[in-house]
Amino acid sequence: MSDIASKLVIVSGPSGAGKDTIVNELLKRDSSLSLSVSATSRAPRGNEQNGVEYYFISAKEFLEKSEQGDFIEFARYGSNYYGTLKEDVQKRIDSGKIVILVIEVKGAEGVKKLYPEALSVFIMPPSEEILENRLRARQTEDEETIAKRMCIAKTEIEKSADYDFTVVNDDLQSAVDKVYNIICDNRK
Ligand code: 5GP
Repeated sequence: MSDIASKLVIVSGPSGAGKDTIVNELLKRDSSLSLSVSATSRAPRGNEQNGVEYYFISAKEFLEKSEQGDFIEFARYGSNYYGTLKEDVQKRIDSGKIVILVIEVKGAEGVKKLYPEALSVFIMPPSEEILENRLRARQTEDEETIAKRMCIAKTEIEKSADYDFTVVNDDLQSAVDKVYNIICDNRK
């Protein structure tokens, strides 16, 4: 297994499935885990800060970076670009961490092509209805964006079979435990 592949954990799932909440719980639980900070061309939401949730850059800068080969993978999601930065991931691996990539399904496919042994986990919402309710409850997206995200969610769920593991997020604590056990069994 390549050095990098043995340190990567991909977490995907539809917007609103709870992957960010689960990953934040994992980071609190185990300091050997580190979250890759991606670059995106989307605007910050709510209290999001540059360099914390994402590096917020313009679409032009994003495309320049992709031409320079700065990304392990990148994808267009809705009307924005998102990409995993090689340098950010390498820095975390060099400091001895297991790196979690919270990315959508096309990007995950790209990482799996480059690093087939990267561990992949799909976070599944209990139902489409619950997913839509969660997206609405966040009050961070307008109706048009919610409709777009629900549409993307359906195609993402079809891809869940390509992942090494699927965890249904019906109860947060038990979903966190399951993902943590998967990581411990396969990455430590
Ligand atoms: P959001 O706008 O809700 O923060 O993210 C939208 C989607 O983009 C989510 O599914 C999120 O996991 C995904 N995403 C975040 N960063 C990356 C990345 O670096 N690459 C890819 N392919 N997807 C990402």
